[in-house]
Amino acid sequence: MSQLDFRNLPEERLSTTDEHGDHVNIIPAEVSGYWKNKRRIMHIFLIFVLFALPWIEINGEQALLFNIPDRVFNFFGLIFFAHDAPKVFFILGGGALVLALVTALWGRVWCGWACPQTVFIETIFRGIETLLLGNRQKQVKFYKQEMNFKKLLLLSTKWGLFLFLSLIISHTLVAYFVGRENLFHMMSAPPAESWTVFVIMAFITGVILFDFGWFREQFCIIMCPYGRFQSVLMDESSKTVTYDYNRGEPRGKKSDPNAGDCVDCFKCVSVCPTGIDIRRGQQLECIACTRCIDACDEIMTKLNRPKGLIRYASINDLKKIPSKLLSPRIIGYGVLLLAIIVGATIAIGGRTDLAIHVTRTKNSPFQIVEEKGQKFVLNQFSVNIKNQSHKPHKLIARIQNSPAHAELIFPLQNLTVDTKKSQRAPFFIRTKAEAFNEMKDIRVKVEIIDYDSKVIYKTRELKIAGPYPQS
Ligand code: SF4
Ligand code: SF4
Repeated sequence: MSQLDFRNLPEERLSTTDEHGDHVNIIPAEVSGYWKNKRRIMHIFLIFVLFALPWIEINGEQALLFNIPDRVFNFFGLIFFAHDAPKVFFILGGGALVLALVTALWGRVWCGWACPQTVFIETIFRGIETLLLGNRQKQVKFYKQEMNFKKLLLLSTKWGLFLFLSLIISHTLVAYFVGRENLFHMMSAPPAESWTVFVIMAFITGVILFDFGWFREQFCIIMCPYGRFQSVLMDESSKTVTYDYNRGEPRGKKSDPNAGDCVDCFKCVSVCPTGIDIRRGQQLECIACTRCIDACDEIMTKLNRPKGLIRYASINDLKKIPSKLLSPRIIGYGVLLLAIIVGATIAIGGRTDLAIHVTRTKNSPFQIVEEKGQKFVLNQFSVNIKNQSHKPHKLIARIQNSPAHAELIFPLQNLTVDTKKSQRAPFFIRTKAEAFNEMKDIRVKVEIIDYDSKVIYKTRELKIAGPYPQS
Protein backbone atom coordinates (compact mmCIF):
# COMPACT_ATOMS: atom_id res chain seq x y z
CA MET A 1 0.00 0.00 0.00
CA SER A 2 1.36 3.41 -0.96
CA GLN A 3 1.95 6.16 1.60
CA LEU A 4 0.58 9.67 1.35
CA ASP A 5 2.98 12.17 -0.21
CA PHE A 6 1.77 15.20 1.71
CA ARG A 7 3.88 17.62 -0.33
CA ASN A 8 2.14 16.59 -3.56
CA LEU A 9 -1.53 16.15 -2.77
CA PRO A 10 -3.64 15.53 -5.87
CA GLU A 11 -6.11 18.22 -6.89
CA GLU A 12 -8.45 16.03 -8.95
CA ARG A 13 -9.17 13.19 -6.51
CA LEU A 14 -9.18 12.34 -2.84
CA SER A 15 -5.67 12.11 -1.49
CA THR A 16 -6.63 8.85 0.23
CA THR A 17 -6.78 7.09 -3.15
CA ASP A 18 -4.13 6.76 -5.85
CA GLU A 19 -4.67 7.11 -9.60
CA HIS A 20 -5.93 3.49 -9.71
CA GLY A 21 -8.45 4.07 -6.93
CA ASP A 22 -6.40 2.07 -4.40
CA HIS A 23 -6.16 3.13 -0.79
CA VAL A 24 -3.31 5.45 0.14
CA ASN A 25 -2.18 5.03 3.73
CA ILE A 26 -2.02 8.15 5.90
CA ILE A 27 0.37 8.28 8.82
CA PRO A 28 -0.03 11.75 10.31
CA ALA A 29 2.99 13.29 12.01
CA GLU A 30 2.84 13.74 15.77
CA VAL A 31 1.75 17.11 17.06
CA SER A 32 1.60 18.85 20.41
CA GLY A 33 0.19 22.13 21.61
CA TYR A 34 -2.73 23.92 23.22
CA TRP A 35 -5.56 22.29 21.27
CA LYS A 36 -4.03 18.84 21.40
CA ASN A 37 -3.91 19.06 25.20
CA LYS A 38 -7.51 20.25 25.43
CA ARG A 39 -8.74 17.54 23.10
CA ARG A 40 -6.75 14.85 24.91
CA ILE A 41 -8.48 15.76 28.19
CA MET A 42 -11.85 15.62 26.43
CA HIS A 43 -11.07 12.28 24.77
CA ILE A 44 -9.88 10.66 28.00
CA PHE A 45 -12.99 11.94 29.79
CA LEU A 46 -15.27 10.48 27.09
CA ILE A 47 -13.50 7.11 27.14
CA PHE A 48 -13.86 7.07 30.92
CA VAL A 49 -17.60 7.83 30.63
CA LEU A 50 -18.11 5.04 28.07
CA PHE A 51 -16.44 2.44 30.27
CA ALA A 52 -17.84 3.75 33.58
CA LEU A 53 -21.52 4.06 32.65
CA PRO A 54 -22.36 0.33 32.77
CA TRP A 55 -21.04 0.31 36.36
CA ILE A 56 -23.20 3.18 37.58
CA GLU A 57 -26.39 2.16 39.36
CA ILE A 58 -29.49 4.15 40.24
CA ASN A 59 -32.16 2.56 42.47
CA GLY A 60 -30.08 -0.63 42.45
CA GLU A 61 -30.21 -0.97 38.66
CA GLN A 62 -27.81 -0.19 35.81
CA ALA A 63 -28.35 3.53 35.11
CA LEU A 64 -28.26 3.17 31.33
CA LEU A 65 -29.64 -0.07 29.94
CA PHE A 66 -31.38 -0.74 26.62
CA ASN A 67 -32.99 -4.11 27.21
CA ILE A 68 -34.26 -4.73 23.67
CA PRO A 69 -35.64 -8.31 24.11
CA ASP A 70 -37.89 -7.15 27.00
CA ARG A 71 -38.38 -3.69 25.42
CA VAL A 72 -37.49 -1.97 28.72
CA PHE A 73 -35.02 0.91 28.89
CA ASN A 74 -33.39 2.34 32.00
CA PHE A 75 -32.44 5.95 31.53
CA PHE A 76 -30.86 7.43 34.66
CA GLY A 77 -33.63 6.45 37.05
CA LEU A 78 -36.47 6.57 34.51
CA ILE A 79 -37.92 3.38 33.07
CA PHE A 80 -39.22 3.47 29.50
CA PHE A 81 -41.22 0.80 27.67
CA ALA A 82 -42.05 0.25 24.02
CA HIS A 83 -45.19 2.37 24.40
CA ASP A 84 -42.92 5.29 25.38
CA ALA A 85 -41.39 5.28 21.89
CA PRO A 86 -42.83 8.74 21.10
CA LYS A 87 -40.79 10.11 24.01
CA VAL A 88 -37.65 8.77 22.33
CA PHE A 89 -38.47 11.26 19.59
CA PHE A 90 -37.65 14.04 22.05
CA ILE A 91 -34.31 12.50 22.98
CA LEU A 92 -33.27 11.78 19.38
CA GLY A 93 -34.72 15.03 18.05
CA GLY A 94 -33.03 16.99 20.86
CA GLY A 95 -29.69 15.28 20.13
CA ALA A 96 -29.96 16.02 16.40
CA LEU A 97 -30.79 19.67 17.09
CA VAL A 98 -27.90 20.08 19.53
CA LEU A 99 -25.62 18.69 16.82
CA ALA A 100 -27.13 21.03 14.20
CA LEU A 101 -26.76 24.04 16.52
CA VAL A 102 -23.17 23.18 17.44
CA THR A 103 -22.30 22.63 13.75
CA ALA A 104 -23.84 25.96 12.76
CA LEU A 105 -21.74 27.67 15.45
CA TRP A 106 -18.42 25.80 15.24
CA GLY A 107 -18.52 23.52 12.19
CA ARG A 108 -17.61 19.86 12.46
CA VAL A 109 -16.57 20.19 16.08
CA TRP A 110 -18.31 16.91 17.01
CA CYS A 111 -15.95 14.99 14.67
CA GLY A 112 -12.74 16.34 16.13
CA TRP A 113 -13.75 16.45 19.77
CA ALA A 114 -16.33 13.79 20.57
CA CYS A 115 -16.86 11.26 17.76
CA PRO A 116 -15.89 7.79 19.06
CA GLN A 117 -14.01 7.22 15.80
CA THR A 118 -11.63 10.14 16.44
CA VAL A 119 -11.54 9.61 20.20
CA PHE A 120 -10.38 5.99 19.99
CA ILE A 121 -8.16 6.25 16.92
CA GLU A 122 -6.29 9.34 18.14
CA THR A 123 -6.00 8.48 21.79
CA ILE A 124 -5.47 4.73 21.75
CA PHE A 125 -4.98 3.10 18.35
CA ARG A 126 -2.47 5.63 16.96
CA GLY A 127 -0.82 5.77 20.38
CA ILE A 128 -0.13 2.02 20.19
CA GLU A 129 1.34 2.40 16.69
CA THR A 130 3.64 5.20 17.82
CA LEU A 131 4.69 3.19 20.86
CA LEU A 132 5.49 0.07 18.84
CA LEU A 133 6.69 1.50 15.53
CA GLY A 134 7.93 4.99 16.35
CA ASN A 135 7.14 8.37 14.83
CA ARG A 136 5.83 9.07 11.31
CA GLN A 137 9.22 8.79 9.55
CA LYS A 138 9.97 5.48 11.29
CA GLN A 139 6.53 4.12 10.44
CA VAL A 140 6.83 5.07 6.75
CA LYS A 141 10.20 3.30 6.65
CA PHE A 142 8.80 0.30 8.53
CA TYR A 143 5.94 -0.24 6.09
CA LYS A 144 8.30 0.03 3.11
CA GLN A 145 10.59 -2.73 4.46
CA GLU A 146 10.47 -6.25 3.08
CA MET A 147 8.75 -8.69 5.43
CA ASN A 148 11.12 -10.17 8.01
CA PHE A 149 10.76 -11.77 11.42
CA LYS A 150 10.94 -8.47 13.33
CA LYS A 151 8.37 -6.82 11.07
CA LEU A 152 6.06 -9.83 11.38
CA LEU A 153 6.42 -9.81 15.14
CA LEU A 154 5.67 -6.07 15.41
CA LEU A 155 2.68 -6.32 13.05
CA SER A 156 1.32 -9.30 14.96
CA THR A 157 1.74 -7.45 18.26
CA LYS A 158 0.01 -4.37 16.85
CA TRP A 159 -2.97 -6.29 15.47
CA GLY A 160 -3.12 -8.47 18.59
CA LEU A 161 -3.41 -5.36 20.76
CA PHE A 162 -5.96 -3.84 18.36
CA LEU A 163 -8.03 -7.03 18.60
CA PHE A 164 -7.83 -7.03 22.39
CA LEU A 165 -8.99 -3.39 22.53
CA SER A 166 -11.77 -4.03 20.03
CA LEU A 167 -12.99 -6.89 22.22
CA ILE A 168 -13.01 -4.65 25.31
CA ILE A 169 -14.94 -1.93 23.48
CA SER A 170 -17.45 -4.36 21.94
CA HIS A 171 -18.07 -6.07 25.31
CA THR A 172 -18.64 -2.66 26.91
CA LEU A 173 -21.13 -1.75 24.20
CA VAL A 174 -22.93 -5.08 24.65
CA ALA A 175 -23.17 -4.36 28.41
CA TYR A 176 -25.42 -1.40 27.56
CA PHE A 177 -27.90 -3.83 25.97
CA VAL A 178 -27.77 -7.01 28.03
CA GLY A 179 -26.69 -5.55 31.37
CA ARG A 180 -23.34 -5.83 33.11
CA GLU A 181 -24.28 -8.82 35.25
CA ASN A 182 -25.72 -10.73 32.32
CA LEU A 183 -22.63 -10.01 30.26
CA PHE A 184 -20.36 -11.51 32.93
CA HIS A 185 -22.60 -14.55 33.08
CA MET A 186 -22.50 -14.93 29.28
CA MET A 187 -18.71 -14.53 29.25
CA SER A 188 -18.29 -17.36 31.74
CA ALA A 189 -20.71 -19.67 29.91
CA PRO A 190 -20.17 -21.40 26.55
CA PRO A 191 -21.16 -19.21 23.52
CA ALA A 192 -23.86 -21.77 22.62
CA GLU A 193 -25.88 -20.54 25.61
CA SER A 194 -26.19 -17.06 24.13
CA TRP A 195 -25.51 -17.44 20.43
CA THR A 196 -27.26 -14.27 19.30
CA VAL A 197 -25.35 -12.01 21.66
CA PHE A 198 -22.11 -13.83 20.85
CA VAL A 199 -22.58 -13.28 17.11
CA ILE A 200 -23.49 -9.60 17.62
CA MET A 201 -20.46 -9.09 19.85
CA ALA A 202 -18.17 -10.80 17.30
CA PHE A 203 -19.63 -8.62 14.53
CA ILE A 204 -19.09 -5.38 16.51
CA THR A 205 -15.53 -6.48 17.34
CA GLY A 206 -14.85 -7.07 13.63
CA VAL A 207 -16.28 -3.68 12.65
CA ILE A 208 -14.25 -1.84 15.31
CA LEU A 209 -11.05 -3.69 14.38
CA PHE A 210 -11.56 -2.96 10.68
CA ASP A 211 -12.55 0.68 11.18
CA PHE A 212 -10.23 1.83 13.97
CA GLY A 213 -7.34 -0.35 12.81
CA TRP A 214 -7.40 0.20 9.05
CA PHE A 215 -10.37 2.00 7.45
CA ARG A 216 -10.06 5.12 9.66
CA GLU A 217 -10.33 8.46 7.79
CA GLN A 218 -12.04 6.72 4.87
CA PHE A 219 -15.11 6.26 7.07
CA CYS A 220 -15.21 10.03 7.82
CA ILE A 221 -14.75 10.92 4.16
CA ILE A 222 -16.82 8.28 2.36
CA MET A 223 -19.38 6.86 4.76
CA CYS A 224 -20.24 9.19 7.61
CA PRO A 225 -23.71 10.67 6.98
CA TYR A 226 -23.03 13.62 9.29
CA GLY A 227 -19.96 14.53 7.25
CA ARG A 228 -22.16 14.56 4.12
CA PHE A 229 -24.67 17.10 5.32
CA GLN A 230 -22.52 19.27 7.59
CA SER A 231 -22.10 21.85 4.80
CA VAL A 232 -25.89 22.34 4.78
CA LEU A 233 -25.81 23.12 8.50
CA MET A 234 -23.00 25.66 8.28
CA ASP A 235 -22.96 29.14 6.85
CA GLU A 236 -20.42 31.91 6.38
CA SER A 237 -20.64 32.83 10.08
CA SER A 238 -19.74 29.33 11.35
CA LYS A 239 -16.38 29.39 13.06
CA THR A 240 -14.33 26.36 12.12
CA VAL A 241 -10.69 25.45 11.56
CA THR A 242 -9.61 27.87 8.84
CA TYR A 243 -6.42 29.08 7.19
CA ASP A 244 -6.14 32.89 7.16
CA TYR A 245 -5.22 33.48 3.52
CA ASN A 246 -5.07 37.26 4.08
CA ARG A 247 -2.18 36.74 6.43
CA GLY A 248 -0.58 33.68 4.86
CA GLU A 249 -0.48 34.53 1.15
CA PRO A 250 1.61 34.80 -0.91
CA ARG A 251 3.61 31.98 0.56
CA GLY A 252 7.34 32.32 0.64
CA LYS A 253 10.54 32.17 2.61
CA LYS A 254 10.95 34.06 5.86
CA SER A 255 13.62 36.22 4.21
CA ASP A 256 11.25 37.32 1.40
CA PRO A 257 9.84 40.73 2.41
CA ASN A 258 6.88 40.36 -0.02
CA ALA A 259 5.83 36.94 1.31
CA GLY A 260 2.95 36.38 3.70
CA ASP A 261 3.27 34.50 6.98
CA CYS A 262 2.99 31.00 5.46
CA VAL A 263 6.46 29.65 4.83
CA ASP A 264 5.08 26.65 2.92
CA CYS A 265 6.63 24.20 5.38
CA PHE A 266 3.78 21.67 4.92
CA LYS A 267 3.77 20.96 8.63
CA CYS A 268 -0.02 21.53 8.75
CA VAL A 269 -0.49 18.98 5.94
CA SER A 270 1.85 16.41 7.46
CA VAL A 271 -0.20 16.21 10.67
CA CYS A 272 -3.61 16.03 8.99
CA PRO A 273 -5.32 12.65 9.61
CA THR A 274 -7.53 13.01 6.53
CA GLY A 275 -4.73 13.98 4.15
CA ILE A 276 -5.86 17.46 3.15
CA ASP A 277 -4.23 20.84 2.84
CA ILE A 278 -6.29 23.30 4.88
CA ARG A 279 -4.77 26.13 2.84
CA ARG A 280 -7.01 25.08 -0.06
CA GLY A 281 -10.02 26.33 1.90
CA GLN A 282 -12.72 24.62 3.97
CA GLN A 283 -13.15 21.06 2.74
CA LEU A 284 -15.64 18.27 3.28
CA GLU A 285 -12.84 15.95 4.44
CA CYS A 286 -11.82 18.23 7.32
CA ILE A 287 -12.89 16.75 10.66
CA ALA A 288 -11.93 19.91 12.57
CA CYS A 289 -9.40 18.03 14.66
CA THR A 290 -7.30 21.21 15.23
CA ARG A 291 -4.03 19.35 14.64
CA CYS A 292 -3.08 21.78 11.88
CA ILE A 293 -3.66 24.72 14.27
CA ASP A 294 -1.13 23.34 16.74
CA ALA A 295 1.31 22.43 13.96
CA CYS A 296 1.21 25.91 12.45
CA ASP A 297 1.31 27.66 15.84
CA GLU A 298 4.54 25.77 16.54
CA ILE A 299 6.04 27.09 13.29
CA MET A 300 4.81 30.63 13.95
CA THR A 301 6.35 30.54 17.42
CA LYS A 302 9.70 29.45 15.96
CA LEU A 303 9.48 32.30 13.44
CA ASN A 304 8.53 34.85 16.12
CA ARG A 305 5.23 35.52 14.38
CA PRO A 306 1.82 35.68 16.00
CA LYS A 307 0.01 32.36 16.37
CA GLY A 308 -3.32 31.79 14.66
CA LEU A 309 -2.44 31.67 10.97
CA ILE A 310 -4.67 28.60 11.14
CA ARG A 311 -7.38 29.10 13.76
CA TYR A 312 -11.08 28.88 14.52
CA ALA A 313 -12.52 31.55 12.22
CA SER A 314 -15.50 31.99 9.93
CA ILE A 315 -15.49 32.88 6.24
CA ASN A 316 -16.98 36.24 7.26
CA ASP A 317 -14.11 36.79 9.72
CA LEU A 318 -11.62 36.34 6.89
CA LYS A 319 -13.61 38.67 4.65
CA LYS A 320 -13.72 41.10 7.58
CA ILE A 321 -17.53 41.07 7.52
CA PRO A 322 -18.91 41.33 11.06
CA SER A 323 -20.62 38.04 11.94
CA LYS A 324 -23.84 38.10 13.88
CA LEU A 325 -23.71 35.59 16.71
CA LEU A 326 -27.47 35.16 16.46
CA SER A 327 -28.00 34.51 12.77
CA PRO A 328 -31.50 33.41 11.62
CA ARG A 329 -30.17 29.84 11.39
CA ILE A 330 -28.91 29.85 14.99
CA ILE A 331 -32.16 31.40 16.23
CA GLY A 332 -34.18 28.79 14.28
CA TYR A 333 -32.21 25.85 15.71
CA GLY A 334 -32.33 27.43 19.19
CA VAL A 335 -36.12 27.87 19.11
CA LEU A 336 -36.66 24.30 17.88
CA LEU A 337 -34.34 22.97 20.57
CA LEU A 338 -36.18 24.93 23.25
CA ALA A 339 -39.50 23.53 21.99
CA ILE A 340 -38.10 19.99 22.19
CA ILE A 341 -36.76 20.57 25.71
CA VAL A 342 -40.15 21.92 26.85
CA GLY A 343 -41.95 19.00 25.12
CA ALA A 344 -39.59 16.46 26.71
CA THR A 345 -40.03 18.03 30.17
CA ILE A 346 -43.82 17.86 29.86
CA ALA A 347 -43.85 14.33 28.39
CA ILE A 348 -41.36 12.85 30.85
CA GLY A 349 -42.50 14.92 33.83
CA GLY A 350 -46.09 13.74 33.26
CA ARG A 351 -45.17 10.08 33.60
CA THR A 352 -46.61 8.20 36.56
CA ASP A 353 -45.34 5.04 38.25
CA LEU A 354 -48.08 3.02 36.59
CA ALA A 355 -49.44 3.11 33.04
CA ILE A 356 -53.05 1.88 33.28
CA HIS A 357 -55.45 1.19 30.43
CA VAL A 358 -59.03 0.06 30.89
CA THR A 359 -60.78 -1.47 27.88
CA ARG A 360 -64.04 -3.26 27.23
CA THR A 361 -63.53 -6.93 26.33
CA LYS A 362 -64.16 -7.80 22.74
CA ASN A 363 -66.94 -10.37 23.18
CA SER A 364 -70.62 -9.40 23.50
CA PRO A 365 -71.10 -5.93 25.05
CA PHE A 366 -73.16 -7.28 27.94
CA GLN A 367 -74.70 -10.44 29.37
CA ILE A 368 -77.94 -10.89 31.29
CA VAL A 369 -77.67 -13.26 34.23
CA GLU A 370 -80.21 -14.32 36.77
CA GLU A 371 -79.46 -14.69 40.44
CA LYS A 372 -82.01 -15.62 43.07
CA GLY A 373 -84.83 -14.75 40.74
CA GLN A 374 -83.42 -11.32 39.94
CA LYS A 375 -81.96 -10.28 36.57
CA PHE A 376 -78.62 -8.49 36.35
CA VAL A 377 -76.65 -7.02 33.46
CA LEU A 378 -72.95 -7.87 33.39
CA ASN A 379 -70.40 -5.71 31.51
CA GLN A 380 -66.92 -7.15 31.22
CA PHE A 381 -63.78 -5.00 31.07
CA SER A 382 -60.11 -5.58 31.40
CA VAL A 383 -57.43 -3.49 33.03
CA ASN A 384 -53.85 -3.55 31.78
CA ILE A 385 -51.27 -2.21 34.23
CA LYS A 386 -47.63 -1.55 33.44
CA ASN A 387 -45.35 -0.89 36.41
CA GLN A 388 -42.85 1.79 35.35
CA SER A 389 -41.37 2.23 38.81
CA HIS A 390 -38.62 0.55 40.77
CA LYS A 391 -40.92 -1.19 43.30
CA PRO A 392 -43.85 -3.61 43.09
CA HIS A 393 -47.36 -2.16 43.43
CA LYS A 394 -50.37 -3.87 45.00
CA LEU A 395 -53.59 -2.47 43.52
CA ILE A 396 -57.28 -2.62 44.15
CA ALA A 397 -60.24 -1.33 42.15
CA ARG A 398 -63.42 0.33 43.35
CA ILE A 399 -66.29 2.29 41.89
CA GLN A 400 -66.74 5.86 42.86
CA ASN A 401 -70.46 6.29 42.16
CA SER A 402 -73.08 3.60 42.04
CA PRO A 403 -75.89 4.39 39.62
CA ALA A 404 -78.41 1.60 39.20
CA HIS A 405 -76.80 -0.10 42.23
CA ALA A 406 -73.78 -0.88 40.10
CA GLU A 407 -71.27 -3.23 41.71
CA LEU A 408 -67.70 -3.88 40.73
CA ILE A 409 -66.59 -7.50 40.66
CA PHE A 410 -62.82 -7.80 40.65
CA PRO A 411 -62.06 -11.51 40.73
CA LEU A 412 -58.44 -11.06 41.81
CA GLN A 413 -59.34 -9.00 44.92
CA ASN A 414 -56.01 -7.27 44.53
CA LEU A 415 -53.39 -7.24 41.88
CA THR A 416 -49.64 -7.13 42.51
CA VAL A 417 -47.56 -5.89 39.59
CA ASP A 418 -43.80 -6.31 39.83
CA THR A 419 -41.38 -3.62 38.76
CA LYS A 420 -41.04 -3.35 34.95
CA LYS A 421 -43.80 -5.94 34.47
CA SER A 422 -47.25 -5.73 32.92
CA GLN A 423 -50.36 -7.45 34.13
CA ARG A 424 -53.81 -7.73 32.67
CA ALA A 425 -56.88 -8.58 34.77
CA PRO A 426 -60.58 -8.86 33.95
CA PHE A 427 -63.34 -7.19 36.00
CA PHE A 428 -67.11 -6.93 35.74
CA ILE A 429 -69.68 -4.29 36.50
CA ARG A 430 -73.00 -5.71 37.55
CA THR A 431 -76.15 -3.58 37.40
CA LYS A 432 -79.77 -4.41 38.07
CA ALA A 433 -81.53 -5.15 34.77
CA GLU A 434 -84.63 -3.22 35.84
CA ALA A 435 -82.52 -0.03 36.00
CA PHE A 436 -82.45 -0.05 32.20
CA ASN A 437 -86.20 0.59 32.09
CA GLU A 438 -85.73 3.89 33.89
CA MET A 439 -82.31 5.13 32.72
CA LYS A 440 -81.10 5.82 29.21
CA ASP A 441 -77.39 6.17 29.94
CA ILE A 442 -75.63 4.51 32.85
CA ARG A 443 -72.03 5.52 33.53
CA VAL A 444 -69.77 4.23 36.28
CA LYS A 445 -66.53 5.77 37.52
CA VAL A 446 -63.89 3.15 38.30
CA GLU A 447 -60.78 3.94 40.33
CA ILE A 448 -57.55 1.92 40.45
CA ILE A 449 -55.89 2.52 43.80
CA ASP A 450 -52.58 1.62 45.38
CA TYR A 451 -53.42 -0.68 48.27
CA ASP A 452 -50.64 0.61 50.54
CA SER A 453 -50.40 4.33 49.77
CA LYS A 454 -54.06 4.75 48.75
CA VAL A 455 -52.91 6.85 45.79
CA ILE A 456 -55.53 6.84 43.04
CA TYR A 457 -53.62 5.99 39.86
CA LYS A 458 -56.51 5.95 37.45
CA THR A 459 -60.09 7.15 37.34
CA ARG A 460 -62.03 6.08 34.29
CA GLU A 461 -65.67 6.68 33.49
CA LEU A 462 -67.20 3.62 31.78
CA LYS A 463 -70.41 3.57 29.81
CA ILE A 464 -72.49 0.57 30.79
CA ALA A 465 -74.05 -1.38 27.94
CA GLY A 466 -77.47 -2.98 28.48
CA PRO A 467 -81.05 -3.41 27.27
CA TYR A 468 -81.91 0.30 27.18
CA PRO A 469 -85.44 1.02 25.94
CA GLN A 470 -85.59 1.76 22.20
CA SER A 471 -86.42 5.43 21.66
S1 SF4 B 1 -7.34 20.23 7.96
FE1 SF4 B 1 -6.66 20.51 10.06
S2 SF4 B 1 -8.51 20.38 11.29
FE2 SF4 B 1 -9.00 19.58 9.26
S3 SF4 B 1 -8.71 17.37 9.47
FE3 SF4 B 1 -6.80 18.22 8.69
S4 SF4 B 1 -5.56 18.64 10.52
FE4 SF4 B 1 -7.64 18.32 11.19
S1 SF4 C 1 2.11 25.00 9.00
FE1 SF4 C 1 1.58 27.17 8.76
S2 SF4 C 1 3.38 27.97 7.79
FE2 SF4 C 1 3.55 25.79 7.52
S3 SF4 C 1 2.57 25.41 5.56
FE3 SF4 C 1 0.98 25.20 7.09
S4 SF4 C 1 0.03 27.21 7.17
FE4 SF4 C 1 2.01 27.47 6.15
